[in-house]
Amino acid sequence: MMTFSQLTKRFGDSTVFADLDLTINKGEIVVIIGPSGTGKSTLLRCINFLEQAEQGQITIDDVNVDSAKANKADILALRRKTGFVFQNYALFAHMTAKQNIAEGLITVKGWTKEDAYRKAQQILDDIGLGDKAESYPAALSGGQQQRVGIGRAMAQDAELLLFDEPTSALDPEWVGEVLGLMKTLAQRHQTMLVVTHEMQFAREVADRVIFMADGRFVEQGTPDQIFNHPQDQRLQKFLRQVG
Ligand code: ATP
Ligand code: MG
Repeated sequence: MMTFSQLTKRFGDSTVFADLDLTINKGEIVVIIGPSGTGKSTLLRCINFLEQAEQGQITIDDVNVDSAKANKADILALRRKTGFVFQNYALFAHMTAKQNIAEGLITVKGWTKEDAYRKAQQILDDIGLGDKAESYPAALSGGQQQRVGIGRAMAQDAELLLFDEPTSALDPEWVGEVLGLMKTLAQRHQTMLVVTHEMQFAREVADRVIFMADGRFVEQGTPDQIFNHPQDQRLQKFLRQVG
Protein backbone atom coordinates (compact mmCIF):
# COMPACT_ATOMS: atom_id res chain seq x y z
CA MET A 1 0.00 0.00 0.00
CA MET A 2 1.16 3.54 -0.75
CA THR A 3 -0.14 6.65 0.93
CA PHE A 4 0.81 10.26 0.74
CA SER A 5 -0.83 12.99 2.72
CA GLN A 6 -0.75 16.77 2.67
CA LEU A 7 1.77 16.68 -0.16
CA THR A 8 2.76 20.21 -1.18
CA LYS A 9 5.21 21.26 -3.89
CA ARG A 10 6.28 24.76 -4.87
CA PHE A 11 8.72 26.07 -7.43
CA GLY A 12 9.73 29.48 -6.11
CA ASP A 13 6.55 31.44 -5.56
CA SER A 14 4.33 29.18 -7.60
CA THR A 15 2.55 26.31 -5.89
CA VAL A 16 2.18 23.28 -8.14
CA PHE A 17 -0.07 21.46 -5.67
CA ALA A 18 -0.94 21.76 -1.99
CA ASP A 19 -2.22 19.29 0.60
CA LEU A 20 -2.79 16.43 -1.83
CA ASP A 21 -3.82 13.09 -0.34
CA LEU A 22 -3.90 9.68 -1.97
CA THR A 23 -3.93 6.04 -0.94
CA ILE A 24 -3.27 3.27 -3.43
CA ASN A 25 -4.10 -0.24 -2.30
CA LYS A 26 -1.89 -3.22 -2.98
CA GLY A 27 -2.47 -4.41 -6.54
CA GLU A 28 -4.47 -1.35 -7.49
CA ILE A 29 -3.95 0.36 -10.86
CA VAL A 30 -4.50 4.11 -10.59
CA VAL A 31 -4.36 6.28 -13.71
CA ILE A 32 -4.00 10.06 -13.55
CA ILE A 33 -5.25 12.11 -16.47
CA GLY A 34 -5.40 15.85 -16.90
CA PRO A 35 -4.27 18.87 -18.88
CA SER A 36 -0.67 19.87 -19.50
CA GLY A 37 1.14 21.76 -16.74
CA THR A 38 -1.18 20.65 -13.97
CA GLY A 39 1.49 18.91 -11.89
CA LYS A 40 1.16 15.23 -12.84
CA SER A 41 4.87 14.66 -13.51
CA THR A 42 5.89 16.71 -10.50
CA LEU A 43 3.61 14.61 -8.32
CA LEU A 44 5.17 11.33 -9.48
CA ARG A 45 8.64 12.81 -9.08
CA CYS A 46 7.88 13.87 -5.50
CA ILE A 47 6.86 10.31 -4.60
CA ASN A 48 10.34 8.96 -5.22
CA PHE A 49 12.24 12.17 -4.55
CA LEU A 50 13.34 13.06 -8.03
CA GLU A 51 11.85 16.29 -6.70
CA GLN A 52 11.51 17.05 -3.02
CA ALA A 53 8.13 18.26 -1.81
CA GLU A 54 8.11 21.00 0.80
CA GLN A 55 5.56 19.13 2.88
CA GLY A 56 3.93 15.72 3.06
CA GLN A 57 4.20 12.25 4.51
CA ILE A 58 4.89 9.44 2.06
CA THR A 59 4.37 5.87 3.20
CA ILE A 60 5.04 2.71 1.24
CA ASP A 61 4.65 -0.46 3.28
CA ASP A 62 6.85 -0.08 6.33
CA VAL A 63 8.74 2.96 5.04
CA ASN A 64 7.43 6.33 6.12
CA VAL A 65 9.18 9.52 5.02
CA ASP A 66 8.49 13.11 5.92
CA SER A 67 9.22 15.09 2.74
CA ALA A 68 10.31 18.16 4.65
CA LYS A 69 12.91 16.30 6.70
CA ALA A 70 13.96 13.43 4.45
CA ASN A 71 17.61 12.41 4.64
CA LYS A 72 19.57 10.27 2.20
CA ALA A 73 18.74 7.03 4.00
CA ASP A 74 15.00 7.81 3.89
CA ILE A 75 15.16 8.61 0.20
CA LEU A 76 17.06 5.41 -0.60
CA ALA A 77 14.59 3.35 1.45
CA LEU A 78 11.68 4.87 -0.48
CA ARG A 79 13.40 4.39 -3.84
CA ARG A 80 13.85 0.71 -3.04
CA LYS A 81 10.06 0.48 -2.88
CA THR A 82 9.43 2.19 -6.21
CA GLY A 83 10.33 1.85 -9.85
CA PHE A 84 10.03 4.80 -12.24
CA VAL A 85 9.33 4.60 -15.96
CA PHE A 86 10.18 7.79 -17.84
CA GLN A 87 8.61 9.27 -20.94
CA ASN A 88 11.97 9.36 -22.74
CA TYR A 89 13.10 5.92 -21.38
CA ALA A 90 16.21 7.49 -19.78
CA LEU A 91 18.39 4.48 -20.61
CA PHE A 92 22.15 4.75 -20.36
CA ALA A 93 23.40 4.95 -23.95
CA HIS A 94 26.75 3.35 -23.14
CA MET A 95 25.18 0.33 -21.47
CA THR A 96 23.56 -2.74 -23.04
CA ALA A 97 19.94 -3.61 -22.35
CA LYS A 98 21.09 -6.11 -19.75
CA GLN A 99 23.43 -3.64 -18.07
CA ASN A 100 20.70 -1.00 -18.00
CA ILE A 101 18.41 -3.36 -16.11
CA ALA A 102 21.16 -4.65 -13.81
CA GLU A 103 22.52 -1.23 -12.88
CA GLY A 104 19.89 -0.32 -10.30
CA LEU A 105 20.16 -3.74 -8.67
CA ILE A 106 23.87 -3.17 -8.20
CA THR A 107 23.76 0.47 -7.09
CA VAL A 108 20.43 0.70 -5.23
CA LYS A 109 20.10 -2.84 -3.91
CA GLY A 110 23.77 -3.74 -3.55
CA TRP A 111 23.57 -6.97 -5.56
CA THR A 112 26.69 -8.61 -7.01
CA LYS A 113 27.17 -8.13 -10.75
CA GLU A 114 26.67 -11.81 -11.35
CA ASP A 115 23.30 -11.92 -9.56
CA ALA A 116 22.17 -8.66 -11.15
CA TYR A 117 23.02 -9.84 -14.66
CA ARG A 118 21.25 -13.14 -14.09
CA LYS A 119 18.11 -11.34 -12.92
CA ALA A 120 18.34 -8.85 -15.82
CA GLN A 121 18.46 -11.72 -18.30
CA GLN A 122 15.39 -13.31 -16.67
CA ILE A 123 13.52 -10.03 -16.97
CA LEU A 124 14.52 -9.63 -20.62
CA ASP A 125 13.33 -13.18 -21.34
CA ASP A 126 10.08 -12.40 -19.53
CA ILE A 127 9.39 -9.28 -21.60
CA GLY A 128 10.30 -10.90 -24.89
CA LEU A 129 13.67 -9.23 -25.35
CA GLY A 130 15.94 -12.09 -24.32
CA ASP A 131 17.82 -11.93 -27.60
CA LYS A 132 18.49 -8.18 -27.19
CA ALA A 133 20.42 -8.49 -23.93
CA GLU A 134 23.70 -7.35 -25.46
CA SER A 135 22.17 -4.61 -27.63
CA TYR A 136 22.78 -0.94 -26.89
CA PRO A 137 19.75 1.39 -26.78
CA ALA A 138 20.60 2.99 -30.14
CA ALA A 139 20.16 -0.43 -31.77
CA LEU A 140 16.67 -0.91 -30.29
CA SER A 141 13.34 0.44 -31.52
CA GLY A 142 11.54 3.01 -29.38
CA GLY A 143 9.13 0.36 -28.18
CA GLN A 144 11.97 -2.00 -27.29
CA GLN A 145 13.81 0.78 -25.44
CA GLN A 146 10.75 1.57 -23.40
CA ARG A 147 10.20 -2.12 -22.63
CA VAL A 148 13.77 -2.16 -21.30
CA GLY A 149 12.84 0.95 -19.28
CA ILE A 150 9.90 -0.97 -17.82
CA GLY A 151 12.10 -4.04 -17.32
CA ARG A 152 14.49 -1.90 -15.30
CA ALA A 153 11.61 -0.82 -13.06
CA MET A 154 10.35 -4.43 -12.82
CA ALA A 155 13.78 -5.69 -11.77
CA GLN A 156 13.51 -3.83 -8.49
CA ASP A 157 10.52 -5.97 -7.48
CA ALA A 158 9.14 -2.66 -6.35
CA GLU A 159 6.00 -2.31 -4.33
CA LEU A 160 4.87 0.54 -6.57
CA LEU A 161 5.65 1.32 -10.20
CA LEU A 162 5.34 4.93 -11.33
CA PHE A 163 4.83 5.62 -15.04
CA ASP A 164 5.08 9.13 -16.46
CA GLU A 165 3.53 9.13 -19.93
CA PRO A 166 5.45 6.02 -20.95
CA THR A 167 4.13 5.98 -24.51
CA SER A 168 3.95 9.64 -25.45
CA ALA A 169 7.45 9.80 -26.94
CA LEU A 170 6.87 6.71 -29.06
CA ASP A 171 6.03 6.45 -32.73
CA PRO A 172 2.45 5.17 -32.96
CA GLU A 173 3.63 1.80 -34.24
CA TRP A 174 5.42 1.04 -30.94
CA VAL A 175 2.71 2.18 -28.50
CA GLY A 176 0.82 -1.12 -28.53
CA GLU A 177 3.71 -3.29 -27.37
CA VAL A 178 4.45 -0.98 -24.44
CA LEU A 179 0.81 -0.79 -23.35
CA GLY A 180 0.66 -4.57 -23.76
CA LEU A 181 3.53 -5.03 -21.30
CA MET A 182 1.85 -2.65 -18.85
CA LYS A 183 -1.36 -4.68 -19.14
CA THR A 184 0.60 -7.83 -18.35
CA LEU A 185 1.95 -6.18 -15.21
CA ALA A 186 -1.55 -5.11 -14.25
CA GLN A 187 -2.78 -8.69 -14.66
CA ARG A 188 -0.02 -9.76 -12.27
CA HIS A 189 -1.48 -7.28 -9.75
CA GLN A 190 1.54 -5.02 -9.76
CA THR A 191 0.56 -1.83 -7.93
CA MET A 192 0.85 1.01 -10.45
CA LEU A 193 0.38 4.77 -10.63
CA VAL A 194 0.26 5.77 -14.27
CA VAL A 195 0.12 9.21 -15.85
CA THR A 196 -1.02 8.82 -19.43
CA HIS A 197 -2.91 10.36 -22.32
CA GLU A 198 -3.94 6.87 -23.47
CA MET A 199 -7.60 7.02 -22.57
CA GLN A 200 -8.29 3.56 -23.95
CA PHE A 201 -5.65 2.12 -21.63
CA ALA A 202 -7.21 4.00 -18.69
CA ARG A 203 -10.66 2.64 -19.59
CA GLU A 204 -9.47 -0.94 -19.92
CA VAL A 205 -6.85 -1.29 -17.22
CA ALA A 206 -7.43 1.26 -14.44
CA ASP A 207 -9.17 0.32 -11.23
CA ARG A 208 -9.44 4.03 -10.51
CA VAL A 209 -9.01 7.12 -12.68
CA ILE A 210 -8.11 10.49 -11.20
CA PHE A 211 -8.66 13.71 -13.13
CA MET A 212 -6.07 16.26 -12.03
CA ALA A 213 -6.36 19.93 -12.94
CA ASP A 214 -4.76 23.05 -11.46
CA GLY A 215 -2.86 20.96 -8.94
CA ARG A 216 -5.99 19.29 -7.51
CA PHE A 217 -7.63 15.91 -7.75
CA VAL A 218 -10.82 17.32 -9.21
CA GLU A 219 -12.65 14.06 -9.69
CA GLN A 220 -11.92 10.38 -9.25
CA GLY A 221 -13.76 7.15 -9.80
CA THR A 222 -14.01 4.00 -11.84
CA PRO A 223 -13.34 4.30 -15.58
CA ASP A 224 -17.10 4.07 -16.12
CA GLN A 225 -17.75 6.97 -13.75
CA ILE A 226 -15.00 9.17 -15.16
CA PHE A 227 -15.46 8.50 -18.87
CA ASN A 228 -19.18 7.82 -19.13
CA HIS A 229 -20.54 9.99 -16.32
CA PRO A 230 -18.10 12.88 -15.77
CA GLN A 231 -19.44 15.44 -13.29
CA ASP A 232 -17.00 18.36 -13.25
CA GLN A 233 -17.13 20.75 -16.19
CA ARG A 234 -13.35 20.81 -16.55
CA LEU A 235 -13.32 17.03 -16.89
CA GLN A 236 -16.14 17.13 -19.44
CA LYS A 237 -14.21 19.69 -21.46
CA PHE A 238 -10.95 17.73 -21.17
CA LEU A 239 -12.63 14.55 -22.40
CA ARG A 240 -14.12 16.40 -25.39
CA GLN A 241 -10.65 17.69 -26.27
CA VAL A 242 -8.85 14.37 -26.01
CA GLY A 243 -11.68 12.74 -27.90
P1 ATP B 1 2.35 17.60 -18.98
O1 ATP B 1 1.02 16.94 -19.20
O2 ATP B 1 2.64 18.63 -20.01
O3 ATP B 1 3.48 16.62 -18.81
P2 ATP B 1 2.32 17.95 -16.09
O4 ATP B 1 0.93 17.84 -15.56
O5 ATP B 1 3.19 16.76 -15.97
O6 ATP B 1 2.23 18.45 -17.60
P3 ATP B 1 4.39 19.26 -14.58
O7 ATP B 1 5.52 18.93 -15.49
O8 ATP B 1 4.30 18.52 -13.31
O9 ATP B 1 2.99 19.19 -15.34
O10 ATP B 1 4.50 20.81 -14.27
C1 ATP B 1 3.64 21.46 -13.35
C2 ATP B 1 4.05 22.90 -13.21
O11 ATP B 1 5.30 23.00 -12.55
C3 ATP B 1 4.20 23.63 -14.54
O12 ATP B 1 3.73 24.93 -14.38
C4 ATP B 1 5.69 23.62 -14.75
O13 ATP B 1 6.08 24.71 -15.53
C5 ATP B 1 6.24 23.70 -13.35
N1 ATP B 1 7.54 23.05 -13.20
C6 ATP B 1 7.80 21.73 -13.40
N2 ATP B 1 9.09 21.44 -13.15
C7 ATP B 1 9.67 22.61 -12.78
C8 ATP B 1 11.00 22.99 -12.37
N3 ATP B 1 11.98 22.08 -12.28
N4 ATP B 1 11.21 24.28 -12.06
C9 ATP B 1 10.22 25.19 -12.12
N5 ATP B 1 8.95 24.91 -12.48
C10 ATP B 1 8.67 23.65 -12.80
MG1 MG C 1 4.23 15.61 -17.36
